[in-house]
Amino acid sequence: MQLGYVYKLKPNSQQEATMMQWLDMLMAQYNYLLRDRNDSYEQVRSPKMGNYCDLRSHGQACPLTCSVSKSSSLGYPWKKSQKNPRRSPYEIQSSTLPILKKQRPWYKKIHSTVLQQMLRQLDVAFSKFFKGEARYPKPKRRSRYRSFKYAPGQVKLDNNRIYLPGIGWMGFYNSRPIPDGFAIKSVTVRKKSRGWFVSIQIEDKSVPLPPVKTVNEIRPNHVKGCDLGIRKLVSTSDGQTIANPANTNKFKCQARRLKLRQRAASRKKKGSNNRKKSFGRVASLHEKLANKRSAYHWEVAKQLTDGTDALVFEDLNIKGMKSRCKPKPNESGGYDRNGQSAKRGLNRVIADAAWGELVRKVEVVAAKSGIPVIKVNPRHTSQECPKCHYISADNRDGEKFVCTECGYHDDADLNGGVNIRNRGLKQLGIDPIQLPSERGKVTPMEITT
Ligand SMILES: [Zn+2]
Repeated sequence: MQLGYVYKLKPNSQQEATMMQWLDMLMAQYNYLLRDRNDSYEQVRSPKMGNYCDLRSHGQACPLTCSVSKSSSLGYPWKKSQKNPRRSPYEIQSSTLPILKKQRPWYKKIHSTVLQQMLRQLDVAFSKFFKGEARYPKPKRRSRYRSFKYAPGQVKLDNNRIYLPGIGWMGFYNSRPIPDGFAIKSVTVRKKSRGWFVSIQIEDKSVPLPPVKTVNEIRPNHVKGCDLGIRKLVSTSDGQTIANPANTNKFKCQARRLKLRQRAASRKKKGSNNRKKSFGRVASLHEKLANKRSAYHWEVAKQLTDGTDALVFEDLNIKGMKSRCKPKPNESGGYDRNGQSAKRGLNRVIADAAWGELVRKVEVVAAKSGIPVIKVNPRHTSQECPKCHYISADNRDGEKFVCTECGYHDDADLNGGVNIRNRGLKQLGIDPIQLPSERGKVTPMEITT
């Protein structure tokens, strides 16, 4: 079982200066090696060679399978052994480190595993791009390059002190002790606007995660369908609703303060110290809000997993696509405004991010008790009748759901959750739960009068 614990560090001024120096040097080397791999990549995709490739789509026509394009032009590309003689780009770039330390001796100050981890980070960025999971890696700016990482087995802990090789012993706020039997894996030091933090990955192989529940172990009436919304953060198929803190006055107040601080910061003279300080205050408030939201999400995740056998969520990738407005072509060949920019406003972006964050946390909590988390297509979950499966926009009447076909009615929020749960059950191969018969008896006329 792997866990991540985060602590705040108490560096002295000299240690802080060292860490700042490291970050600067690491960023310079990261960007240099990125350019190197960039050059190798450009060589192959240039039109001179007869190949053209669009960086954004990196589609079929691109000879990405060619080993040169994924590689590096520095270092020694060949291994000594004859078996698989070509080195990987990571290995090639790794072989340049001794040369670097000779040419620029100040790089010797950085702990060797920290330098190695920087190379790994670059390698991961590229392999993600070649797999089509991420965009082409970009050079990092100083404001974006804020962390460095130690390989497992380097960092030591002693009560309220931590030993970071190359920097020394440092105090930290031991806000929660590491449980017995856990070994420290990788350690990342991160600069944030509220100070320096260390996140420690700990692992205990003796505590395996419980096995995920099988279909036979899942009781259909203990399966929860979770409808994610803006007004209510979650409404479940068993009638539970969880408020969205973004709707409370307190949050709105803080959001307003954030806006004011941002405005004040952007009015400051560019490049001035005051501007820097002012944006520091903006970042600090951002972090504070993010921490609060995170704590709330863990609470919600615990509540949702409590006493359930399986959880069903909407697939957020599809949900995001669904909520996109249709393009409106006009006669002159262009496009009219379709309200997309208004719809995808700030609130929307925040909601999207918050949903993803929440689902990820639920998955972590659920895994600890072996509860499967199922994702289903969110199409028409708010418009479908769970009884006769008739889909119509007319079925929804504000807060109420009334089927215009068979007269089944229910709370609209609850209905979304029920539909999501039924889709999840179907995906698991379990028969859906019979709805209580008295619910369907009322005709829509009786409700409206
Ligand atoms: Zn119906």
